Parts: sequence; C-alpha cells; structure tokens
Amino acid sequence: MPKAKTYTFKAETKQLLNILIHSLYKDREVFLRELLSNASDALNRLRFEKLTNPDVLDPETELSIRISVDKDNRTITVSDTGIGMTREEIVDHLGTIAQSGARRFLEAAREQSLDASGMIGQFGVGFYSVFMVAEWVRVTSRSFRPDAEAVSWYATGDDSYQISAAEKTGRGTEIQIKLKEDTAEFAEEYRLKNIIHKHSDYIGFPIYVGAEEKPVNKQTSIWRTSKQEVTDEQYKEFYRQTTLDFEDALLHIHFVTDAPVQLYALLYLPSKAERGIFALRKDDGLKLYSRNILIDEYNKDLLPEYMRFVQGVVDSEDLPLNVSRETVQSSGLMPKLKKVLTNQVLKELENLAKNDAEKYQVFWKEFGGYIKQGVSSSPADADKLNGLLRFKTNLNPEAWSSLEDYTGRMKPDQKVVYYIVGDDPKSVLRSPHLDHFHGQGVEVLLLTEPMDSFMLMGLHKYKDFELQNVAQAQLPEPEKKENEPEKIAEADFTSLVERFKQVLGERVVDVRASNRLSQSVARLVDEAGAPNPELQRVYRYLGKDFEVSKKILELNPSHNILKNLLKLDSGAELQTLVIEQIYDSALLVEGLHPDPSSIAPRVQQIIEAALSK
Ligand code: ADP
Ligand code: MG
Repeated sequence: MPKAKTYTFKAETKQLLNILIHSLYKDREVFLRELLSNASDALNRLRFEKLTNPDVLDPETELSIRISVDKDNRTITVSDTGIGMTREEIVDHLGTIAQSGARRFLEAAREQSLDASGMIGQFGVGFYSVFMVAEWVRVTSRSFRPDAEAVSWYATGDDSYQISAAEKTGRGTEIQIKLKEDTAEFAEEYRLKNIIHKHSDYIGFPIYVGAEEKPVNKQTSIWRTSKQEVTDEQYKEFYRQTTLDFEDALLHIHFVTDAPVQLYALLYLPSKAERGIFALRKDDGLKLYSRNILIDEYNKDLLPEYMRFVQGVVDSEDLPLNVSRETVQSSGLMPKLKKVLTNQVLKELENLAKNDAEKYQVFWKEFGGYIKQGVSSSPADADKLNGLLRFKTNLNPEAWSSLEDYTGRMKPDQKVVYYIVGDDPKSVLRSPHLDHFHGQGVEVLLLTEPMDSFMLMGLHKYKDFELQNVAQAQLPEPEKKENEPEKIAEADFTSLVERFKQVLGERVVDVRASNRLSQSVARLVDEAGAPNPELQRVYRYLGKDFEVSKKILELNPSHNILKNLLKLDSGAELQTLVIEQIYDSALLVEGLHPDPSSIAPRVQQIIEAALSK
C-alpha cells in the first residue's frame, strides 16, 4: 500500500459538503452531468494543448469518456483521456472552492426550498455534487505531462481527504464512485444512458457506456443541432445552465447562416432586465465559440451596445482557432457577424410584436429603454427600431400604441406626430400645453421616461411625419367658440403683463397672451430658435449642471385667476406672491424646476393671505 497523506478540507468546502449530503435533492442524477462536463473540459483543454505542444503523454489515444458499472459492488467509474491532474493540481482543484458564492447560493436555495441540484455546476463546485450519491469517491489521475506521476484522491464526504501515489498507465482521470445504498439505481447502464441523453447529449466527445463500442451521446452542441431536434425543455435547461436565471427566457432565437458568414447562434431574451442576485453572467456579452471551442466568455462586439440584454452563444466556422482576441477583432469578421446577428434579433422582435402583442408588452416594459437608446445610438437600425417603439398617449393613456397605431388614428389634415415631454404620466396629462390638443381631440405621445429624451435625439421623423414637441408646435388659430369666457380688456391686460415682467425680471424673456390655453392660467414656451429642450433634459438626467434656458411666459387672458389678480392693488404683496407662484408652477409642470420644495413656504404665505380675507 502506498503511503497516504491526509488533508483537511477548507471550512467553506466542509460546509458545502454538509449541505450537499444532508439536503434531499430530487434531482440527484445531475451528479453525472457534472462529472461528464468536467471530463469534457479536461478533453477540451488537452485538445487545446496539443495545438501548440506535441509533447504530451499518449498523443494517439482517442479523446473520449468511458463509464463502467459494477452492479454487485455498487460502483460506477467515469474515466477520461483528458488533461489529467498532477498532485498539486488535485489538491488545489478538489480541496478548495474557487468561487466564494457557492455556499451562499446553496444556503439560500435550501431556505427557499429551491432545488439547487440543477444549478450546482455553475458555481465551480460541480464536482462535489457527486457526494449527493456517493459513500466514497476515489479520483485517480495522471497529467498529460510525460514525466508526471499518477496520483489518487480519496474522500468520504467528511472533513478530510487523502492523497497517495497511484498506478495508472494512461493519461487522464478516472473517478470511481461507491454509491450509497439508497442510490443503487445509478448502478444500471440503462439508467446512466438515460441521464446522458437527458443532460449530456451535446458533449463534444464520445461517451461509451459499458462494453459498447458505439458512443451513447450525439456529440453536437445544442446550437449546432437542428431546431427540429431540440425540445423546449432542452432550450430551457441550456438557458438555465448558462445564465442561472431562475425564470425562463421570454424568447429564444436559434439560427444558422452560411452567407455572408458562417455562424450558429442560440440567443435568448431574458424575461427580466434585472439580473438576479445569483446570476451567473457577471458581465454583458455573448459566448463566442469557434468550431465548438470557447474562445471568449463575454464578447461585446457581436451585438450593438443597446442589445446588451441578449444572452447566448455564437459559434462560427470562419473564426480562426487558437488566435488571440486581438486577432479576432482585427480579422474584419466581427462586423459581419454583428450585422447578421443584429438583423436577426430585430427581425425576431418585429415578429414578436406582430404575432404576440401580449408577450411583446412584457418585453417592452422590461427592455423598452434599451430600444429607445438604440434609436439614438444606432442610426443604421433606427428604421426598424422605430417600429418597435411603444407609447402611451393623451387619448390612450392606458394602452401601448406604436407609431403606426398613432399615424393610423391621425386627423385627416394632421401633418406631424405630436409629443409632450414630462416627468411622469400623470402630471404630464395636466400640462397646459395639452389644453389645445385635448380640446381638438388631437393625440399626443406622452414621453415621460429619462430614455425618451435620448431617443428624441435620434427620432426626428416617422415615415413622412415629423415629430414635434407640443410646447413648440405652430398651430392654426383656434376657431372662436360659443360661450367662451370673456377676455380681460386690452389695457388692463397690458398693465398686468407689465406687473409680471416687473416681478419676474430676468427670469423670463417675455410675457404675453396666448390663445392656446383654456384650463390653465399660464405656460412656458421657448423662444423661436432656443436651444433644444430635450438636450436640456438629457443634461439633467446625466446629472450635469444645467441652466434652464429662459422662456416666454404665456398667459391665458380669460382666466379667473388673472381677473382676480387685477382686482388687487398693483404692487400688493399677495399679487407678487401669486405671480411668483404662477411662474414656479409652470416650471414644475415642465419638469424643469431646479428646487421644487422651495415652493412650500410661499404656498403657505398665500394660504395665510387667502384665509385672512
Ligand atoms: P468547475 O468544473 O466549475 O471548475 P468542479 O467542481 O466541477 O468545478 O471541478 C473543479 C476542478 O477540478 C476543475 O476546474 C478541474 O480543474 C478539476 N477537475 C475536475 N474533474 C476533472 C477531470 N476529469 N480532469 C481534470 N481535471 C478535473
Ligand atoms: Mg465542473
């Protein structure tokens, strides 16, 4: 017997093993998937090594995985001809946990009675899942380095493990598992084959079970398998495995192209914009494979930035293998891949919008902001993106309307698409700018999200219709209506305007009458040629210092407040207070007040004055 050395597991590993052994997982069969996935990684790494290093042990040995079963002794053995491990590597890789989130995840899963077994591989602790089924485990490994010696690792799942020298002639790793009494079911070849079909069919190396000479698995990755052969459940499992998202994706996009570039892609639109706390993907980007070999875990050049919520895998035969990332960048291939992928995602979104409005709404609520960003940041996609936009409007404040819906409902003589910008959907409906439009039954888009201001920088036209801010709209003179309230006499109004100018001074460019107002007493409008109001808003959202550009205060000459204001002595304190307040209120509804709470003391003064009458 070779001398064995005993090591103690690190605290975190002990706790993890404890949870694994004492929680009852219904999906214990996934231990096999984890072992096979490790074997496949090891084979991949060997293949990679061989590209540049001819000096490996057993260079001719087939890259494969073999499983054998001894039913009488209740053992299974999983062996691979992969990269193997040296003594140091085995201590390093099977004695410590690289990823610290693992225990936290399992504990949370236990508290919320989620079945964590499906996810465990994602935390870099997949190997330990073998203790869900094992009484003991012996790993015997020999590294690919020609001078490496074989080593064996043995553990029963309690606090320590043993390392000893071993006999093993060939390269690779062999994992022998003594099954617990209540997991004897796994010592059946047919059972193992079923598990392989279910979870590991796509492993890219042959898996042989028992004495059979035919591999059990299909050996193509899911994204290289034809759509007809992939079940919904398999799509879902693959999504869960890659993202650790507990919710199913909203949509998957699986396609192959041959021209102008060859690619396989399996993309997913998540159902939530926010990543869960256990999300596996710590960064944006797609997984990029070249001929089934992962070359970039987070590639951000395959889709435009505004599509960064898309998850998934891209694999291309055209990418040169074994090249640095920089070479891939400069190969000129990336822009081609990006174009194909972007167009495909846009096409699928169009289809979703057309064929499943309900699902599209879910998408819109979560990801609408990204699409709006795209409108301003990717002019090349703008035409398609415009069709994906959805809005609430003054006439349909509850439903989502597309620009097509809007233009379809336009008044026959309407030439432009009107919008109003504000801070929230409720207060914007009270805006004085809408007085005229409400009155005429003209529809106006309500733009109340920060991203809207960015969107407007790229959205000037829809089909032949210009977009126009109602605050700046040039409108025809409204027709004189019956029993309209009487206007203040010309001379009185002029003196009132003077009074406003005196009080507001430099803060306004001008004060004048407006015939656009009915319910509201006043509104602020821009001077002709004033700087773009959307831009001011963008600055505000970006937290930049912004100065509200001076505006024109327009007054409603028929409004009772103004009539009553005239009755006060000119220069009375209350008159001044009310004028200040009218101006501040107008700033507020515009969403432009720099310090809203400063209004409160004045409101109190006005109330006091009103009550003391
Ligand atoms: P992960 O696969 O996420 O790294 P695991 O717990 O499944 O986490 O495995 C831990 C480590 O053990 C692997 O990263 C690898 O270095 C090593 N390992 C496990 N199985 C094998 C194997 N069959 N051949 C070589 N190395 C292995
Ligand atoms: Mg693993």
